[in-house]
Amino acid sequence: MVTRVNGIAASDGVGIAPAYLLTKPNLSFEKYHVSDAASEKKRLHNAFDKIIRNLETTKKNLTGKLSDEDLAIFDTHIAILNDPEMIRQVENRITNQRLNAESAFAEVITKAIKTLQAMTGNEYMQERAADFQNIQDQVLAELEGKELPNLRALDHPVIVVAHSIGPSDTSQMDARFVKGIITDLGGRTSHAAIMARSLQIPAIVGCNDITRKAVNGQNVIVDGFEGNAIIEPASTEISQYQKIADKFMNVRQQWQQMVDKPSVTADGSKYKIAANIGSSVDISSAMENGADGVGLFRTEFLYMKSDHLPTEDEQFNAYRKAVEQLKGKRLVVRTLDIGGDKPLRFMPLPKEMNPFLGYRAIRIALDRPEMFRTQLRALLRASEFGKISIMFPMITTLEELQAAKKIYYEEQQKLAVDHPEIGKDVRLGMMIEVPLAALNAERLAAEVDFFSIGTNDLIQYCFAADRGNDSVSYLYQPLNPTFLKLVKHIIDSGHAHNTTVAMCGEMAGDRYSLPLLIGMGLDVYSMSASSILRTRSMMRQLDRKKCQELYQEAITTCDSMPAVKNLVQHWLVEN
Ligand code: PEP
Ligand code: MG
Repeated sequence: MVTRVNGIAASDGVGIAPAYLLTKPNLSFEKYHVSDAASEKKRLHNAFDKIIRNLETTKKNLTGKLSDEDLAIFDTHIAILNDPEMIRQVENRITNQRLNAESAFAEVITKAIKTLQAMTGNEYMQERAADFQNIQDQVLAELEGKELPNLRALDHPVIVVAHSIGPSDTSQMDARFVKGIITDLGGRTSHAAIMARSLQIPAIVGCNDITRKAVNGQNVIVDGFEGNAIIEPASTEISQYQKIADKFMNVRQQWQQMVDKPSVTADGSKYKIAANIGSSVDISSAMENGADGVGLFRTEFLYMKSDHLPTEDEQFNAYRKAVEQLKGKRLVVRTLDIGGDKPLRFMPLPKEMNPFLGYRAIRIALDRPEMFRTQLRALLRASEFGKISIMFPMITTLEELQAAKKIYYEEQQKLAVDHPEIGKDVRLGMMIEVPLAALNAERLAAEVDFFSIGTNDLIQYCFAADRGNDSVSYLYQPLNPTFLKLVKHIIDSGHAHNTTVAMCGEMAGDRYSLPLLIGMGLDVYSMSASSILRTRSMMRQLDRKKCQELYQEAITTCDSMPAVKNLVQHWLVEN
């Protein structure tokens, strides 16, 4: 029976393949007594050995494809399985109490998980608990002869169907086999959506109950343009969508010709289209997609993956590696933006009622300046190896910006004692993602070399709508005319002080926003690497003056986001 599902269009493209549910099988088991303890122990060790061998092979296959921090998770899991104390306790239960392997193992590991989980507020211990939980599932599945979903082991095309998708899932995804993603939860700026775009996998998110509707192996079509999925489509629909997929492949090939072309409009106005990255591993994809530089390096991933505060040298090496790979292009690094939805293992932060409105980003940096100083020193040192810009996240007030700058200049002067030229080419900037900073843009512009508008957060705060909550995703409205006026105000305020204005939120890579942003005079467009060539291709067909007229028309004749979208859609067809 054909089932149709609607969600939020999150990543362009059409995927057609069998469903692969990222949901766990039932791993419950019976507790019973065994007569032959030796063979029960052998059964246990066989399961352990098989899992260790699998983990070792997968790690080997992924070496070079994942960062060292991501690979370290395999060693952690192998270490849990090799822990002599854990093995002793399980064996004792089998020998002395004659318990079956499942019960003996589950008793021991559950105790460990509970101890770790009891340390609430300690993010690191919570992550360890998750590692133990993961091992528990693997061992029980092996003993029970059941299969766990395992993205790493995929060897055929699938559409991944999941409740939600986190960084650990996406780091395992191979775009050769994952032809589409559908999730119950998430909005356009959720992790799953951003990652799907950067991996160029068609995706729809926020479908509510797709995991209950789809069954493993059923044919599924994902339409990432419109946000629709079809389970068990008719063969006519498959061929219809296959045509759309083929056409999109051709268009992508045409975009490929844009790699070495300059980012200019048809009238010759020059812009920059840069990439957003999460680690230096992403730079190769940015370069392959012809990025004019990196407009946002989200450094928090460097901290989130680590089990200790990254040292100055560790950070210096990461930033140096990144900027060297850019071969003379500029690297814009955002200082630590943690808190909110981005916890750290080694620095437990108190649980908050409203983490997005709480202790995060620059607020933490100014409150714990040692950590901030370490990062600034590492960045200053790396700036001797390429062009580096530094920007501060979540600035609300002028005082915060001035305090952050003061700390930066103190560190620069200390380093300048031995390296007089240090920091001479560094440009300082700030993110505009808090409404008050947007309103105060004119005063703030006098203080920085550049602004970068973070529309993901700016929209969430302007519309008072959690960016990850699909129940309020209708309020993610980059094309709302009132919001457009605010963006224009930021751009004009920047330009009044010769301050470059960039945008690194998802709006920068949105096709309907592009002509409006050009019309408003935005200088730098920073986006997922996968959107760069499409944006450049489109930009080169647009005329700046006509875009200015379009913006004027939008804010004078339209009262709502749908009205603006409709206007832009018609305008694009005509122009
Ligand atoms: C933003 O808020 O728009 C932004 C780019 O930052 P992040 O998505 O990392 O919060
Ligand atoms: Mg942000």
